[in-house]
Amino acid sequence: MARIVQKFGGTSVADIERIRNVAQRVKREVDLGNEVAVVVSAMAGVTNQLVNWTTEISRLHDAREYDAVVATGEQVTSGLLALALQDIGIDARSWQGWQIALKTDDTHGNARIEEIDTDQLLERLKAGQVAVIPGFQGIGPDNRITTLGRGGSDTSAVALAAALNADRCDIYTDVDGVYTTDPRIVAGAQKIDRITYEEMLEMASQGAKVLQTRSVAMAMSHNVRLQVLSSFADVPGTLVVNEDEIVEQRIVSGIAYSPDEAKITLRRVKDRPGVAGGIFGSLADAAVNVDMIVQNVTEDGETTDLTFTVGRSDLDRAAKVLDGIKEDIGFTDMIADPTVAKVSVVGVGMRSQPGVAKTMFQTLADRGINIQVISTSEIKVSVLIASDYTELAVRALHTAYDLDGDVTT
Ligand code: ADP
Ligand code: ASP
Ligand code: MG
Repeated sequence: MARIVQKFGGTSVADIERIRNVAQRVKREVDLGNEVAVVVSAMAGVTNQLVNWTTEISRLHDAREYDAVVATGEQVTSGLLALALQDIGIDARSWQGWQIALKTDDTHGNARIEEIDTDQLLERLKAGQVAVIPGFQGIGPDNRITTLGRGGSDTSAVALAAALNADRCDIYTDVDGVYTTDPRIVAGAQKIDRITYEEMLEMASQGAKVLQTRSVAMAMSHNVRLQVLSSFADVPGTLVVNEDEIVEQRIVSGIAYSPDEAKITLRRVKDRPGVAGGIFGSLADAAVNVDMIVQNVTEDGETTDLTFTVGRSDLDRAAKVLDGIKEDIGFTDMIADPTVAKVSVVGVGMRSQPGVAKTMFQTLADRGINIQVISTSEIKVSVLIASDYTELAVRALHTAYDLDGDVTT
């Protein structure tokens, strides 16, 4: 007997028939004698709709009310799944975030899980009752509903698995595992049987949305046995594992892309100590995440150009902050470009193998794609390019690193 957390994403619970299908998958684990906690997302498209309504009704954004609205999608599916389970003779009940309680910090709209009370849940699980838990939501220190950021149901599932000391956390989705790149844009993408936590973390943080980045970080630090698999097909998925559990290592395991980037260049920034601190400190205070950064030397030796990237949805906020500190910091112009994308190659094998970056740059050059900014870590190389070339770049790199599999049409 095992204790299992199963998570079903939006497409997997998109309509009543699919929720019934999910109930059957849960039943299978129950029939094996397992204790099962299920985490569900909102039905496909619902969260987008809810987000749109909040922006439509008010330009002034109260994040607490935003959370009160967008958390409802998951509440609906948790109740529906509990009903579907009861309908096929399984003892089940829904538990909203506040009922558990799943406690978070007070960063409404992007809250972090701090603590999960498991006593009541465990008692019911041990008594054979299935717990159906809405992902994405928790309760803040202000006693108000919080949400965990887009894609956050993955993190709810992993956090529950860690808190419940579960044997497995199975993430069911609309693809049958983690692929060498997004199978929706490269037909020859191949399923990866095993990927390391570190690689998965880089893939997720560089844009592969199959798992939310925080869920991978949490699985890594709590040693949660994480698996990605299909809600629709009975085929083996992808296991996320430690490096020593991988027998054959590739130099590059996958290619990720993030289409929603924006580039900001500050021209003729005064070249003196404290300037970078001033700029990036102010952006951080406004909760703007800065990703890639390059600083160039200018000929006069007095000033420098500074280029960096932010998420596209943060661009307006970033521009406002920078306008506000223009005099203080001392720069002449700000140039914003929202038409950029980031493409990254990821692989633990890179640590011991030189030449990975060279292949990347050469491949892009051969296609006439200009690289605007570069950043690297031990197991990843990222480049910023014009967004029109994203798919071309991903496909070309996928081929260049020998990742293409057979394409059956
Ligand atoms: P869910 O609603 O189940 O949480 P998501 O849409 O969040 O599903 O994540 C699954 C999607 O992630 C897939 O449909 C796929 O297009 C995309 N994706 C991006 N990169 C990858 C990758 N490397 N492997 C698998 N899927 C990927
Ligand atoms: N429903 C939320 C979203 O669409 C959370 C999730 O599905 O993981 O972002
Ligand atoms: Mg998701």
